[in-house]
Amino acid sequence: IEDDSMENSEVQIFYREDPEEQSLSQSPCPPAEMPSTNLYSPLKPRNYQLELAFPAKEGKNTIICAPTGCGKTFVSLLICEHHLQKFSQGRKGKVVFFANHVPVYEQQKTVFSRHFDRLGYRVTGISGATAENVPVAQTIENSDIIVLTPQILVNNLKNGTVPSLSVFTLMIFDECHNTSKHHPYNVIMFNYLDQKLGGFSDPLPQVIGLTASVGVGDAGNVEEAMAHICKLCASLDASVIATVRENLEELEQVVSKPQKISRKVEPRTTNRFKLILCQLMQETEHLAENVSEELGYLFRIQDRVFGTQKYEQWIVAVHKACMVFRAPDREEESRICKAMYLYTSHLRKYNDTLIISEDAQIKDALNYLKDFFNNVRAAAFDETEQDLTRRFEEKLPELERVCMDPSNENPKLRDLHLILQEEYHLNPETRTILFVKTRALVDALKKWIEENPALNFLKPGILTGRGKTNDKTGMTLPAQKCVLDTFRANGDNILIATSVADEGIDIAQCNLVILYEYVGNVIRMIQTRGRGRAKGSKCYLLSSNADVIAKENINLYKEQMMNDSISRLQTWDEAIFQERIHRIQNQEKLIRDSQPKPELVPDKENKRLLCGKCKVLACHTADIRVIEESHYTVIGDAFKKCFVRKPHPKPRSYGGFEKKEKIFCARENCGHDWGIRVRYKTFEIPVIKIESFVVEDTVTGLQKQYPRWKDFPLEKIQFDAKELSQ
Ligand SMILES: [Zn+2]
Repeated sequence: IEDDSMENSEVQIFYREDPEEQSLSQSPCPPAEMPSTNLYSPLKPRNYQLELAFPAKEGKNTIICAPTGCGKTFVSLLICEHHLQKFSQGRKGKVVFFANHVPVYEQQKTVFSRHFDRLGYRVTGISGATAENVPVAQTIENSDIIVLTPQILVNNLKNGTVPSLSVFTLMIFDECHNTSKHHPYNVIMFNYLDQKLGGFSDPLPQVIGLTASVGVGDAGNVEEAMAHICKLCASLDASVIATVRENLEELEQVVSKPQKISRKVEPRTTNRFKLILCQLMQETEHLAENVSEELGYLFRIQDRVFGTQKYEQWIVAVHKACMVFRAPDREEESRICKAMYLYTSHLRKYNDTLIISEDAQIKDALNYLKDFFNNVRAAAFDETEQDLTRRFEEKLPELERVCMDPSNENPKLRDLHLILQEEYHLNPETRTILFVKTRALVDALKKWIEENPALNFLKPGILTGRGKTNDKTGMTLPAQKCVLDTFRANGDNILIATSVADEGIDIAQCNLVILYEYVGNVIRMIQTRGRGRAKGSKCYLLSSNADVIAKENINLYKEQMMNDSISRLQTWDEAIFQERIHRIQNQEKLIRDSQPKPELVPDKENKRLLCGKCKVLACHTADIRVIEESHYTVIGDAFKKCFVRKPHPKPRSYGGFEKKEKIFCARENCGHDWGIRVRYKTFEIPVIKIESFVVEDTVTGLQKQYPRWKDFPLEKIQFDAKELSQ
């Protein structure tokens, strides 16, 4: 059970480089109504689309590399239709189409259904949202085209429900540049390649990959870039890279390259807000340093700057180190651990606040901090917390004054304001996508637009991922679809988005893309620019950091290198290319097979689970039972006395579970978030999360902290209903 409202726990990393990168295939949300776009009306293929589809129609495993917005979906329809119709009577083709993100999955399922229903083929889809209630093997058996999120197939290959990839005759990978490392795409292809190289005689499906950019990895020159691309081809068993070469003029008429503009903005000259916050952080660090002699050394390490991602990483490391601190006296250990827990949590919030103030208004940053202290006051509120709150409140009047002072306005926002005003003045019909780094910023910028009378020509919508990083701003699938539909229907005219929107989702024509302190790798850059499809579109990069602008220029250079590399590979003789691919595949398989994953040896020793905050004994590992592989409960009456319950703010049910309450450490002044209480079958049971606890060895007294259950070498005893009813 993923309890997303407890993900606000202090251990989570709020600011990640890539907040939306995650598999959406485990989503517990139901699929929603289908949108309608002009994609579904019958279209006449353009010449370049026929050119792209040609090698695949000849039966070759192909990577189709063409710009975002040129109609790759339509190319895949052409290939699919040709593939299904080439089978003579008696034999049948079966196509599987993989999509990584749920909105893309929904879109593709709709497009395929509309197109192939008329032709009499059965199209179905299975995503994480529907997988639980669907007999997967039967669904695949009864369908001609199956749209899947890839993790579904990985799971069903692993548990044997789908015996082999030979059930399919064609596999299409959308955004196929993801086929690397441990991505589910690559796990599927490992299975394919093991069958191919292992000399099994069952026929394997044809493989097609679609992408706007194959990427170049860390390549510094064309040779290295070619090696990177060859490796991707080997992973997908592709012998052809299809790009548009003969119909370039036609392609350029359809996909216009937006004009690129980089704007370096100056940071605030005086920053009183930052100064005060840094003082508070210094004070807090000093208090933490004096809690215990043994832990004090952690704070004497130099070289850290408040308000940076690096500080965030450092404070998380300190936080974890303190959780497993041991002292000869239990009460003393509890006191020290709890104090350190609180100091490091506060330091993280201060650091978050500084990061928000850099890109948004000071007001947004201060509100974020005030919210945090309100929550602190509402919870246990012990002496340390009272002290920290008092220190903050002393500074609050001055912080409020700084907030109201117009001279502290963020110059970045001023610049953004100018761009928007100018573009909408030139063309009132402008549609904008504004990319920002984090969800906190999405909210802050939306507010900024709404509260700014000079920007009342803007109707902002937001689009963020479904991740569980922050409960408040995570978007459900129906909500995402609703936003996309209103944007299409000409409701909103500016969409504020995190990186979720940069892969493949079909958003109606935008002519203005603004990257607000937003930089990614070359693949991301090409796709983001693909969003500005309309003629005469512009793409602004707005940053106060010269490095960010330099990085963007490197990305442009890498894009050139990639195009050169593909051109050179396309001149190779196909047999020679295939031989090279085959050699890479064998090498990679050898490496894979010689490094079997070390299985965690279950540790049968009974251990203690201590509260991660106050270190009170919660339970023993011998009392932990596992439900359906991934949920952990504790049996026995002793544990029931250790926690207190509160109604869950977002009760929900899915699978066999009904989420009803949250549970917290019962110790006075602690109240640490331990997990949830659910209804499962006829039982009301607690489900705990291991990151809230510290594991103590009963013999050696050594303590360890595990971020996830799968890292914990626990002997898994299955949940048994009989045991509980006794
Ligand atoms: Zn506790």
